[in-house]
Amino acid sequence: MEFDVVVVGCGPVGALTANLLGTRGVRTLVVERDTAPHRQPRAFSCDDEALRIYQQAGLLDEVAKDMYAPRRAEYVNAKGRVFATVALDEVDFGLGSAALHFFDQPRLEAALRAGLDRFPHVTLRTGVELMRLTQDDRAVTVVLRDLDTGTETEVRARYVLGCDGARSTTRVAAGITLTGTSYAEPWLAVSGEVGPDAVRVPHTTFVCDWRRPAFVSPGAFDTYRLEFMLRPDEDPAQVTSPAAVARLVAPYVDPDRFTVTRAVVYTFHHLVAERWRDRRVFLLGDAAHQMPPFLGQGLCSGLRDAANLTWKLALALRSQAPDTLLDTYEAERRPHTEAMARTSVRLGRVFLVRNRVAAFVRDVVLRAVQTVPRVRRLVRHFEFKPLPALPDGRVMFPQPEVVVGGVRRLLDDVLGPDFAVIGPGVDAGTARDWSGPRARFLRMVADGEPHTENDLVDVTGTLTAWFARHRTDVVVLRPDRFPRSDRDFATAG
Ligand SMILES: Cc1cc2nc3c(=O)[nH]c(=O)nc-3n(C[C@H](O)[C@H](O)[C@H](O)COP(=O)(O)OP(=O)(O)OC[C@H]3O[C@@H](n4cnc5c(N)ncnc54)[C@H](O)[C@@H]3O)c2cc1C
Repeated sequence: MEFDVVVVGCGPVGALTANLLGTRGVRTLVVERDTAPHRQPRAFSCDDEALRIYQQAGLLDEVAKDMYAPRRAEYVNAKGRVFATVALDEVDFGLGSAALHFFDQPRLEAALRAGLDRFPHVTLRTGVELMRLTQDDRAVTVVLRDLDTGTETEVRARYVLGCDGARSTTRVAAGITLTGTSYAEPWLAVSGEVGPDAVRVPHTTFVCDWRRPAFVSPGAFDTYRLEFMLRPDEDPAQVTSPAAVARLVAPYVDPDRFTVTRAVVYTFHHLVAERWRDRRVFLLGDAAHQMPPFLGQGLCSGLRDAANLTWKLALALRSQAPDTLLDTYEAERRPHTEAMARTSVRLGRVFLVRNRVAAFVRDVVLRAVQTVPRVRRLVRHFEFKPLPALPDGRVMFPQPEVVVGGVRRLLDDVLGPDFAVIGPGVDAGTARDWSGPRARFLRMVADGEPHTENDLVDVTGTLTAWFARHRTDVVVLRPDRFPRSDRDFATAG
């Protein structure tokens, strides 16, 4: 049997990847070893860019209805005194939603899997694992094993996408190694449901207590998430006992009104695959990179991988782009992922000080530097988070609400899944002269001017400001909503 693409792994990254391929009409087989979706909440937060990617997959409403946007995140010292605040309710990066959302991973994964039912050309097979693969000039042959019967079958696909997580079989089969650091300190992650009045710390809080660094936060659906660094002498089996968990959570939630759904010990890593592509095989998500969770960017980075690669693959499969376009996947994604990982590691250094004197100095210094307005803004408005940008400096296009055909909608809902050409300078000749892939053309007009369904009114002024800042009157947007460069045009045209 031959497919365009085999996606290995139906965790959140694999499921989203298959949805994006589905929207682009790519014949896709997804294989997943487990028979049921992950029951365990691991990832907990996602950003505005992640939501925009779910939107591209046509799943924004489905996933966002189960999310909760926190108002602020606080860093407190050992005495519970706040020394830094990220005021999330004051932040708008202009991508169409709040800067941070909390979610319940099992619900998210269920919504992503349900999304696959929309596509007759996407098949999900669970209880099936990738065993090995070989490549030739034309395709990849994957050997799959049915875990029920033990039977092995061969499937051919033009491309294979390894979304099979940290211990990726795809990565090993492609002969790609991981480099980086694994941290020695174990952490205890506790998730649970809170009853009425159970919450004692109502805000997302990084507890920078040198004796026991911890992260605590209310989550979506009356859930609460807590993570505690363990001490070297603590026994993982002992700290996960109900009595030990109750003692640890007590300062933050009332243990008598807190139903623990998960208490596991884990260690974190800062690892990256030496290559993300081996001819027809690509790595995405945790298979390609893993980072400490302090910025909540592990999963988000995997979603960006999917958004970056899937449109390029769709063009390559339709022979609308040369193979070299696929090389831009790693070239564009690796630097951004590394920037996120570095910021996450730096935050960890602030958060994880384990010595009383060093912690005292940190608290004093951080309070002092925030008297400088620029530094205070950097912290308060989350400006220390790397921009959604490509290595050449192109930043993701804003997503304001616009009016088209008399209806006010988010920009991407108007643009659709393909390329888009928009701006005050778009006219009939623009579409006529276009030699690129399928695209939507939208002329920006002033409010009050007569307009058609191909005219866009920039009711918030955001786009007008963007065009003025960039001194242009037309922009070509790629399907992942980055402005297209001449290089993309040459390769994708
Ligand atoms: C405690 C903790 C907290 C975190 N918090 C956050 C957060 O707040 N925000 C965030 O963005 N990220 C967070 N992360 C990271 C996030 O959980 C991961 O980045 C994300 O789950 C990776 O998704 P994935 O789909 O790449 O891999 P996975 O979720 O690991 O999915 C891989 C899938 O592949 C399947 N599979 C594996 N091998 C095979 C095979 N050979 N054949 C078929 N199927 C196979 C597996 O069964 C699995 O379903 C956190 C991680 C941890 C541990």
